[in-house]
Amino acid sequence: MASTQRQTAANMPDYDAARASFSWEQARAQLSGLPGGGLNIAYEAVDRHAQGPLADTVALRFIRRSGERLELTYAQLLDESERFAGVLRDLGVDRGERVFSLMGRLPELYASALGTLRHGAVFCPLFSAFGPDPVEQRLRLGDARVLVTTPPLYVRKVAHRRERLLGLEHVLLVGDEQEIERITDVEDLRRLMASARRSASIADTRPEEMALLHFTSGTTGTPKGAVHVHEAVVAHHATGALALDLHPQDVFWCTADPGWVTGTSYGIVAPLTHGVCSIVDEADFQVDRWYEILQRERVTVWYTAPTAIRMLMRAGEEVAGEYDLSDLRFVASVGEPLNPEAVEWGRKAFGMPIHDNWWQTETGGIMIANYRSMEVKPGSMGRPLPGIEAAVARRHSKGHPVLARDGTLELVDVGTESGELVLRPGWPSMFRDSLGEQARYRACFRGGWYLTGDLVRRDDEGYFWFVGRGDDVIKSAGHLIGPFEVESALLEHPSVAEAGVIGKPDEIAGELVKAFVSLVPGQTADEELRRELLAFARRRLGSSVAPREIEIVAAVPRNRSGKIMRRLLKARELGLPEGDISTLEPES
Ligand code: AMP
Repeated sequence: MASTQRQTAANMPDYDAARASFSWEQARAQLSGLPGGGLNIAYEAVDRHAQGPLADTVALRFIRRSGERLELTYAQLLDESERFAGVLRDLGVDRGERVFSLMGRLPELYASALGTLRHGAVFCPLFSAFGPDPVEQRLRLGDARVLVTTPPLYVRKVAHRRERLLGLEHVLLVGDEQEIERITDVEDLRRLMASARRSASIADTRPEEMALLHFTSGTTGTPKGAVHVHEAVVAHHATGALALDLHPQDVFWCTADPGWVTGTSYGIVAPLTHGVCSIVDEADFQVDRWYEILQRERVTVWYTAPTAIRMLMRAGEEVAGEYDLSDLRFVASVGEPLNPEAVEWGRKAFGMPIHDNWWQTETGGIMIANYRSMEVKPGSMGRPLPGIEAAVARRHSKGHPVLARDGTLELVDVGTESGELVLRPGWPSMFRDSLGEQARYRACFRGGWYLTGDLVRRDDEGYFWFVGRGDDVIKSAGHLIGPFEVESALLEHPSVAEAGVIGKPDEIAGELVKAFVSLVPGQTADEELRRELLAFARRRLGSSVAPREIEIVAAVPRNRSGKIMRRLLKARELGLPEGDISTLEPES
């Protein structure tokens, strides 16, 4: 049965024409703005719909683990977020202060995000599978004043470190009342929300006021806090229309967790600004469950990730055929390279190609995409969004971009030569700061461009092709993992002398985290110790960050300045030529 949805006209029928006429001012004009001036993400996402004809439209449909559904209309979502904002007001939380969440995809996560934004505070979501180390580090770096979490997550990951988090004044728990009562120094969020006087007035935030904080990993040092402002909503809305082709009647499912930027920009903000119904599944990936959700909820636009697509592919195309997916009209994917076979598989399984798009935490929204109205070239990330200027910068062998005499970047022409993907700064969702690290922020810009750190090439039709990361950061199942963070945790184990961590290619997850460790003198490298190290890392880092494999080696290679040579570890792991190892310290 052909669905009427499939016949919706594309929001952007002609890419070149849209690119020629686009302006961010016009994109901004698609939003309402606050009645007295200013801009607030929560107002664009909720208030303006709740006060209009969409008040009774379902904004969020939660699929609980049990399969039970829970719906919140725009009017109810407004009520919930006003209550959460009321709780913050009663607790004395000020504008600009940080409210963190560490929880699964529960309704309260969404009420907290939108309530925090309407209060004028800053929302920082953490992934619930992070272990105590990454959680503590981010709470500390982000100066958390409030944490919204659940009793088990709090007890396992935060409680025993609470005295080290002096600024964390309020922990608000969502869960069983009696369980919460047994825990000290916490408050029951549901109880507070039930009794709170709703905060009906929304903070009159300026477009450049900080709204969201997302941590992302680099090769060295602590995670980077990417600061985003309320103005970002202009890009969320525009990309929702142009790259995801959202229409008011859509049922949209973004499978990303809000603990990662995709799950916030496109799991919360963009669909709500378009007034569509968003599906939120509390459970993790399962083949049958996902197909059932697509079928039963009559999902029309689906935004997912290559790892998930590859897992569906492994289950077989015939499984897709067992479900009625006739409402599905657009499938997009992000977060890691989407192999050409996956794009083609989409054609067979869903009757349409999978539209790859590219962006990163720092860009806050989609920058390069395969659009509905444009021919998809399997394996390509697509073309830059209207309003986005992208280019390829030539790099020195050490990784820095080559600067011309006049200080501009030397750009690579179209063709086979690859270089670093660079973007012209100035789009609304660009990060405005690396929290507390201005030098680190400035280092991301050179010669009038923002340096993405990704290596790409561009063909003669302006399509960009991903070549690889320019650094050692690992992408596993779409999650960005800093090797330094993993190495630091392993070094905490008394038997470990040195640690080097790499991404090992994996057919499904893209990469797996693999660690090489050397031991302190007197330790025996046996299977028992190896297993203990795996468990130790998992306890501290959590399942999404911890290494899947640990190999005990005599020494971890370093260069003369003492830096771990991850490149060499990777070359050895893959059986590739070791390249130029002249700066490598002799391994004794
Ligand atoms: P994150 O900041 O966690 O969203 O990760 C961003 C990084 O993921 C990018 O810098 C890329 O390395 C990678 N990435 C995102 N989308 C794609 C894509 N479509 N193809 C290849 N790599 C991607």
